[in-house]
Amino acid sequence: MRYSALEIVKQGFSGNRGWKPLWRDPAPKSAYDIIIIGGGGHGLATAYYLAKNHGVRNIAVLEKGYIGGGNVGRNTTIVRADYGQKGNSPFYSHSLKLWEGLSVELNYNVMFSPRGLLELCHSDGQIESYSRRANMILARGDDAEMLDRDAVRAYAPYLNFHAERFPIRGGLLQRRAGTARHDAVAWGYARGADALGVDIIQNCEVTGIDIEAGVVRGVQTSRGAIKAGKVGICVAGRSSQLAAMAGMRLPIESHVLQAFVTEGLKPFINTVINFGVGHFYISQSDKGGLVFGGDLDGYNSYAQRGNLGRMEHVAEAGMSMIPALGKTRMLRSWGGIMDMSMDGSPIIDKTHIEKLYFNGGWCYGGFKAIPASGSAYAQLIATGDLPAYAGAYRLNRFETGHLINEEGTGAQPGHH
Ligand SMILES: Cc1cc2nc3c(=O)[nH]c(=O)nc-3n(C[C@H](O)[C@H](O)[C@H](O)COP(=O)(O)OP(=O)(O)OC[C@H]3O[C@@H](n4cnc5c(N)ncnc54)[C@H](O)[C@@H]3O)c2cc1C
Repeated sequence: MRYSALEIVKQGFSGNRGWKPLWRDPAPKSAYDIIIIGGGGHGLATAYYLAKNHGVRNIAVLEKGYIGGGNVGRNTTIVRADYGQKGNSPFYSHSLKLWEGLSVELNYNVMFSPRGLLELCHSDGQIESYSRRANMILARGDDAEMLDRDAVRAYAPYLNFHAERFPIRGGLLQRRAGTARHDAVAWGYARGADALGVDIIQNCEVTGIDIEAGVVRGVQTSRGAIKAGKVGICVAGRSSQLAAMAGMRLPIESHVLQAFVTEGLKPFINTVINFGVGHFYISQSDKGGLVFGGDLDGYNSYAQRGNLGRMEHVAEAGMSMIPALGKTRMLRSWGGIMDMSMDGSPIIDKTHIEKLYFNGGWCYGGFKAIPASGSAYAQLIATGDLPAYAGAYRLNRFETGHLINEEGTGAQPGHH
């Protein structure tokens, strides 16, 4: 069903009884050409682009829970293209371009809102390093502006300009960055993939990967065995567990990251802001809640909830940056399982098992990556090649030492 203004009017006149479910609820077939394990943002986008760009239709996405129950529906939704590392910057630049057309591409409103992202600078050293970063972003063809203190004050007057300890000296602004509605992204890709014939199978946990003579043959699931020509792993925080089913040990650890939401407030924060000292980022959702987060909890876990110590730490950082936050009430918090790679950058690659592919290591930044990751992974699975913008994400960089050192926390999350 195609969404349009005309359709809304039509449905309005017929009591809104004609809307169709966003995707079917098919029973798993006994065999597929391609199975994608994991119905998060990356898995659903991969299935969508496999069908759309490569014409493969006999695909299943196997999700152990429900669509949107993983990190794709738990994150703070920041989308930006301000990465400086060689391997990462073309990838995130491409992804932001895909975000800009995503609602039209999917015929589904993912509520991408380019409201800008301001990174605060608090010292001369930080101004210098952010200026360098701004120049790198500009040289790549994306947008970046350095603001002085007065310009930051004009842009975000509610920040703490009286702080002695963390004085605001300026900021790096990317106006095309912003936020999107996280679960709408999962639903939009699920709906798009389903319309192209992809079976989205919820409540279907993969419990084993069948391999014969070094070639993947299918998977074992909580709903029976399913044969497959190719299998793509795409399970974010559960990456190590799935890889272990195929006898692989990955350079990835799982950690908890929490997000927090306050009660709904009148429009107050007009952009996304990153604190320049300590780890804190905040935006305001369209419903009015302030959405914010900080550091990882700092220990390995598969729990989707965090601890009070980190909550206090994040609230302190928030209060230092915007003292008025002290008057708001925090309504909800939750955790997601981060797939932390050892260099803080992702992996999209074949594995040593024929026809078995891996996508993961998105750390705390994989929401913004969903469109580019899905289209790159689809290309890899369909053709065997990665597009140039994702060419640095090979698994063997951990063997050769060609790491893409973003601030990976890897084995030492406390040093982040
Ligand atoms: C609190 C928080 C804040 C974040 N903030 C941001 C941000 O502001 N910007 C940004 O870019 N990124 C952010 N991220 C990171 C981003 O959300 C993730 O990197 C990204 O969503 C991970 O990819 P995914 O969507 O495919 O993962 P998921 O949605 O977790 O999908 C993986 C799916 O695999 C399923 N699965 C696992 N095991 C199995 C199995 N055995 N069988 C079948 N299915 C299985 C899971 O149930 C899950 O649904 C944040 C994450 C968190 C938790």
